[in-house]
Amino acid sequence: MKLATCLYSNTHHIAMVDALWDQPARGKVLLLTGPATKHPLWNDPINTLQQLIEQGDTVLPLIEKIYRTSSPDEWLALAAVTLCAPIPVPRRNIICLGWNYAEHAEESSSATGIQLDALPEFPIVFTKATTTVNGPFDNINYDERVSKRLDWEVELGVVIGRQGRHISESQALEHVFGYTVINDISARDLQKRHKQFFLGKSVDGTCPMGPWIVTADEIENVQALTLRCHVNGELKQQGSTQQQIFNVASIISSLSQVMTLLPGDIIATGTPSGVGFARTPPEYLQPGDVVACSVEQVGTIINAII
Ligand code: MG
Repeated sequence: MKLATCLYSNTHHIAMVDALWDQPARGKVLLLTGPATKHPLWNDPINTLQQLIEQGDTVLPLIEKIYRTSSPDEWLALAAVTLCAPIPVPRRNIICLGWNYAEHAEESSSATGIQLDALPEFPIVFTKATTTVNGPFDNINYDERVSKRLDWEVELGVVIGRQGRHISESQALEHVFGYTVINDISARDLQKRHKQFFLGKSVDGTCPMGPWIVTADEIENVQALTLRCHVNGELKQQGSTQQQIFNVASIISSLSQVMTLLPGDIIATGTPSGVGFARTPPEYLQPGDVVACSVEQVGTIINAII
């Protein structure tokens, strides 16, 4: 199922979405919180997807039950709500993989001059500040005093469901709540100037995500999903999660050897080749540009640079 955070009648709600991942226009939503729902969902009030995810394995059957017993008049047109980032305020930074697709590692190596002797033996990990989180269709602020070199990076986002430490690869996917689409917008001038990734990856609003979380049970093979990024309708990136150097299970396993993964943690799993800074000549997002990122079976996010 698809679970979203949305704005309806000036109030944030969590909602179930009934829509095709690539043709959402005729989709519908069922609000799971607030006065609009007649369902006493659970004893403790749940107002956010973060709280819902923290409920653990019991929560999805409950929502399934609400879905089955809902009447058509309880559903709203998807167009009647404003979709927000599924977890608008994560409780810690977005965890990100760098250079996780071979062709992107190679294009980045030649564009930066950083020598790449071999593909990474261990995942390259950095984070984006929580204040980067932005809605799936919201504008991205262009402030040339901060950066003139904003770049696109379509990525599969993984949302952790079950807490864990020292998770084996074979059990890793059991810790996944679901998947979302992330654009890891990167300020290349800041990345270069400050050497370390963090500031260049942490400009406010540069992590649009959504449009919802597709629960893990709906994705049969997470390592066979096509990712695409279009800028102003022109295809810039196209790859498949099949090409990941570290697959989702190994990323979760590696991270969890070091740190406890928590419900609601968001992992951006890296971008395929075709980013702007590695092009000849380099390309960067300009005010007025529209960037669309899609992950097959998950959804599409579209953001204008303003
Ligand atoms: Mg990235």
